[in-house]
Amino acid sequence: MAEFPAENGPVFRVAVAVPIYRLFDYLPPQSFETESSQPGIRLEVPFGKGKKIAFLVDVVWKSEFAADKLKRVLRVLDLQPLLSANDIRLLHWASRYYHHPLGEVFAAAFPVALRQGKPAGPITEKRYALTESGKTMALQQLTRAPAQQKLLEIFREHQSILAETELSAAGKNWRPALKQLMTKGWVCLASPVTTLAPLPASNRDDTIQCNPEQQAAVTAVCEKLDRFGVFLLEGVTGSGKTEVYMQIIRTVLERGQQVLVLLPEITLTPQLEERFRRRFVVPIALSHSKLTDKERQNAWLAMQQGECSILLGTRSALFTPLQKPGLIILDEEHDSSFKQQEGFRFSARDVAVVRGKLLNIPVLLGSATPSLESLYNVRSERYRLLQLPNRAGNAVEPVLQLLDIRNKPLQEGLSEPLLAEINKTLLKNEQVLLFLNRRGFAPTLICHGCGWVARCTRCDANLVIHVREQKLCCHHCGRERPLIKHCPSCCQDALMPLGLGTERVEKILEELFPDKSIVRLDRDSTRSKGALEDYLQQIGQGRADIILGTQMLAKGHHFPNVTLVAILDVDSGLYSIDFHASEKLAQMIVQVAGRAGRAEKPGRVILQTRHPEHALLTTLVDQGYHRFAETALAERREASLPPYSYQVLLRAEAADSVRPLKFLKTVRHVAEQLNTGQTSIMGPVSAPMARRAGRFRFQLLFQNNGRPALHALFDALIPEIERMKLSKSVRWSLDVDPVDLY
Ligand code: ADP
Ligand code: ZN
Ligand code: ZN
Repeated sequence: MAEFPAENGPVFRVAVAVPIYRLFDYLPPQSFETESSQPGIRLEVPFGKGKKIAFLVDVVWKSEFAADKLKRVLRVLDLQPLLSANDIRLLHWASRYYHHPLGEVFAAAFPVALRQGKPAGPITEKRYALTESGKTMALQQLTRAPAQQKLLEIFREHQSILAETELSAAGKNWRPALKQLMTKGWVCLASPVTTLAPLPASNRDDTIQCNPEQQAAVTAVCEKLDRFGVFLLEGVTGSGKTEVYMQIIRTVLERGQQVLVLLPEITLTPQLEERFRRRFVVPIALSHSKLTDKERQNAWLAMQQGECSILLGTRSALFTPLQKPGLIILDEEHDSSFKQQEGFRFSARDVAVVRGKLLNIPVLLGSATPSLESLYNVRSERYRLLQLPNRAGNAVEPVLQLLDIRNKPLQEGLSEPLLAEINKTLLKNEQVLLFLNRRGFAPTLICHGCGWVARCTRCDANLVIHVREQKLCCHHCGRERPLIKHCPSCCQDALMPLGLGTERVEKILEELFPDKSIVRLDRDSTRSKGALEDYLQQIGQGRADIILGTQMLAKGHHFPNVTLVAILDVDSGLYSIDFHASEKLAQMIVQVAGRAGRAEKPGRVILQTRHPEHALLTTLVDQGYHRFAETALAERREASLPPYSYQVLLRAEAADSVRPLKFLKTVRHVAEQLNTGQTSIMGPVSAPMARRAGRFRFQLLFQNNGRPALHALFDALIPEIERMKLSKSVRWSLDVDPVDLY
């Protein structure tokens, strides 16, 4: 296309936060210092019939459009870019690497309010909390003041501080009621918690004396703080990784630099925050999904302006600007929650490494069960391995043991030998932890008379029975129906639950151990705010004998008095069609096992299985995770699977099955023409779950042993896809380095 000089002078080339790959040209606002406008500033631009926030990418002197065709920028929102030049470089890299529109990548780097164009100042919002008397007073006192009663109930349900926006969300007219409650002394103003203040000196702890392996790890990183490098800290649960992080962080702080610590959502427990506050005298910023948008924005700005030196955050905190970047730590680096699974699908681990490279600072990855990708990078000498082979202090590692349950009678999934072990443990007043990765009562409701099965009408999935709520729920689209008593097909009273869920195991445990206290931890039981914290406290204080739960249990928590861990059903993960499944299963087993015997008492781990000879299980049990990972890597190499090759998954879905299939077939056809680099193209095939939430889903997989050829293909292919009419009638997305082929 011919480019015409823009007659009126410079043109702003901007990225708009819309799912379109191209950039857009605008005239700068009148009487604006165009020369000094730096890339990265936020702008408000007319777009379509409305306005949008855009990010300045470049000031150019040529546009393919004549100046009188260009619209003018409405407002300039920042005088200085909020991101550094290196971080802007990072966003450009991410946009190219993930083949995702630059405007959306930019948007992902900002907190919600800034993304919407709000001014970049700290947001103050009043927050309110229950007073001690407000926590204990009898609600009946307020029967004549229903508005106040309702408000107080909301405070009690949330068991925490509520911000103005949260109160507004709970109903209108809360202000007069709140005022009354404050006058009565039941509610008070709470201080804002953008950042955690350090604890007073008397509550602080001193640095622990490191064991030799820990010391070696600390030294290895601290010697190289002035440059880029990636370290993989592999250490069994309880080996003192967090201690290593904290000692390195201390050195970085002494150098006057900032540290970004990324964690999977669930490990961001008050326990960890507490440990950091006990150790450091600097304020700590937090950023995770339990905070309000405003709190996250304040944390973001506190780091950007250098007011805070440590940020503890989840995946979305990755792009937080650092005034004096010193170190990036990513704990539990194998965790799949570091991969964003929608929209801008990026791996926080991989982007963190690139960010470290651009900022020229070290990146420290830690895990008890490192991902195969990271171990592969150690082998190819891109990452340096640091190992902590033993548990710190006096704790010993748990012993794993397979329990063959073939032909053994089971009571709701519990075998006799396992029950005997549970009894023995309880007799010693120690805690038992049972793991089952399926919530609800049972995954299937089937008719014994005619074989009818309760299915979701919108997904290719069975409805899960939830007895407590008397519901049938689809775990994929969220649809719910009342639990029925009679078969809708043959009308007989012959419906029965098939399979196991945590609710069902909880029920049998209550029958078998009537005088024991049983805690169930899953998404259902911890839905209300504060519930998880309460349960964790209950467990920590020894007021729980048996803990039963889903993967929520596998991560991060410390249960010092648990000495028996049992995984009720390891088999369900053994024969998946996704090649990532065995890695995930092995990680999950080791992580759950890591909950056992963290203190002085030794722990045991029992895996119930019908496949006791399965190589994955025997390798893991007899030789440990590292050996398993080596075997698994050898298999991946044999099959030319990642990390020995690179993949991109193109997904498409629509309300009918014709269009997405036709779309992907067309894409395949075009891709074959463009494919000069021997990329293999597999499909289109229907997704493993072919229908979800009423939409038919298909996918096309691209694989190449070299990255450049694969990416070059997509550089050429995407403009073609955007030009296809069919691409507008389906929902399509690209997933680079997919970790979940579903
Ligand atoms: P990880 O992060 O690997 O699970 P932590 O750092 O949480 O391990 O350490 C586990 C426990 O061991 C913690 O209670 C910690 O205080 C303690 N610990 C860590 N390092 C040492 C050490 N060198 N000596 C004694 N105790 C230690
Ligand atoms: Zn029937
Ligand atoms: Zn459904």
